[in-house]
Amino acid sequence: MERINVTRPFLAEREEYDALLSGIWNRHWITNNGVLHEELDQALKAYLGIDNLLLFTNGHLALETALTGLDLTGGEIITTPFTFISTTNAIVRSGAKPVFCDINEDNLTIDETKIESLITDKTKAIVPVHVYGHPCHVEEIQRIADKHHIKVVYDAAHAFGVRYNQESICAWGDVSMLSFHATKLFHTIEGGALLTKKDSGAFRKMGLLRNYGIISEEEAEYIGGNAKMNEFQAAMGLVNLKHMNQLVAERKSITLAYRERLSEIPGIKFYVPESNGSVTYNYAYLPVLINECEYGLNRDQLYEKLKSHNIYARKYFYPLTYDFACYSDLKKSADTPVAKKISDRILCLPIYNGLTFEQVSMICDCLRY
Ligand SMILES: *Cc1c(COP(=O)(O)O)cnc(C)c1O
Repeated sequence: MERINVTRPFLAEREEYDALLSGIWNRHWITNNGVLHEELDQALKAYLGIDNLLLFTNGHLALETALTGLDLTGGEIITTPFTFISTTNAIVRSGAKPVFCDINEDNLTIDETKIESLITDKTKAIVPVHVYGHPCHVEEIQRIADKHHIKVVYDAAHAFGVRYNQESICAWGDVSMLSFHATKLFHTIEGGALLTKKDSGAFRKMGLLRNYGIISEEEAEYIGGNAKMNEFQAAMGLVNLKHMNQLVAERKSITLAYRERLSEIPGIKFYVPESNGSVTYNYAYLPVLINECEYGLNRDQLYEKLKSHNIYARKYFYPLTYDFACYSDLKKSADTPVAKKISDRILCLPIYNGLTFEQVSMICDCLRY
């Protein structure tokens, strides 16, 4: 049987990409704010409805640059361990200390009721994650941040196209990071962006940090790195963006097919909500929670069973970030029982554009018997 991975990058017709390559060859300009970079910048601002946007070579460096640009070095940052290791790494590499907050059981984002008890006089920011594209409880998080005069930086790596009250979820917080990695819903091979509704000196600084901090041939204002997006990435983004609405619609129908076929299986909890009045989802992931007592197998046994049928689900997110050996020091003070419980039971099932209903049925049959 053909191998099915948890995801597969979308690739449009080859001709669509080739058409943009001709322009690159004509211009002989392949990075540093090229024509396609500017086009993608404008197109994404229009698509997302946010005026302040910076393209990056990847999402991780975008997040690291955001934290550096906000001057959080030496401070504590409240975040969750139920995420990709990049979130925690970005905090540590920017010179701050992660303080881990638990997640809530309903949508697996940061439990905002537990944030305030973690705030100290060193706390400088909150870095919540819109995990699987589920919006965090943004109003309450903002209220807490305003009350304590701290920043909010969203890891919105999973949340491309997610809307809350008719507006991009990236409109919330001081700044949000999107990832355009090949495995994400919208990709530029590798890539990412920072977005904000509140233009500020800090956002301008993030733009300069992206390119060595230089403002002219003879002047550097900050000690920046290099995190620029090149023309080949931008070309991929322009092609993929044209297909976005159709790709999300297709993923929605795959999600509904899973929901229908999995609904009668006891012990499998489905997470992806239907879009409702206030939230428009992007159907980027298909997380399910396995309750061993009701289902009969635990998560790891199910993972292995699927693998034996050539179906490669993924344990996103296991381990918790503080359980990686490099964070053994941080682990000592972490107390996140819900994140621990979820991380031991969660499994992301395959979902990608091009996954057929027959394949979904086959995966569900494998889950059933
Ligand atoms: C993918 C991802 C990142 C990093 O993005 P890259 O573009 O791969 O560098 C950060 N946080 C989360 C939650 C992610 O899933």
